[in-house]
Amino acid sequence: MSIYQENAKQCRCCGKHVPLPTVLREYNGTTLCPTTFSNVMEYKRLWSTIGSRPPGNIRKHFSDYVQQLVEETIDKKY
Ligand SMILES: [Zn+2]
Repeated sequence: MSIYQENAKQCRCCGKHVPLPTVLREYNGTTLCPTTFSNVMEYKRLWSTIGSRPPGNIRKHFSDYVQQLVEETIDKKY
């Protein structure tokens, strides 16, 4: 097993995509692959821009995992 295979276990989505990530990122204490990380950043940016939870036609482009990560950390005062 390579170091990349070991590292990839830390991202919950990574069983689903190939090739495995070689560099991992961190969001709010959760280790993520760069794909998930950038989706989290984008979903969070959308939420801030819209001012509330993005509508379904936008949410469908983001996995439940990504949405959950952002929902746990977003400032719901928006
Ligand atoms: Zn992943």
